[in-house]
Amino acid sequence: MLIVRCPLIPRKFCVNLFGVVLAKDTSWIDAEIVNHEKIHLAQMRETLFVGFYILYVLEWLVRLLSTGDSFKAYRSISFEREAYGHSSDMDYLKKRCHFAQWRR
Ligand SMILES: [Zn+2]
Repeated sequence: MLIVRCPLIPRKFCVNLFGVVLAKDTSWIDAEIVNHEKIHLAQMRETLFVGFYILYVLEWLVRLLSTGDSFKAYRSISFEREAYGHSSDMDYLKKRCHFAQWRR
């Protein structure tokens, strides 16, 4: 996974664009964050990349309308629930089922 410094990204925030992680400062990016982004990369591959971004934004909008809270909406997106739920498990991607973001 490629991690690139980008001054346009807010501090303590990163954006995963097709497997390239952009961050203003990369010093805070640890193994757990890299694993989180690798989980997103697996999700992107399964949804043919463009599908990931379309579904991600649509789900965020639906959840924003239902919760009225942008952070709660973000954390409850299926892709994020899976990534946050397993980012500390460094072996997760070896045992992950396809489309795990939609399985319970
Ligand atoms: Zn994420």
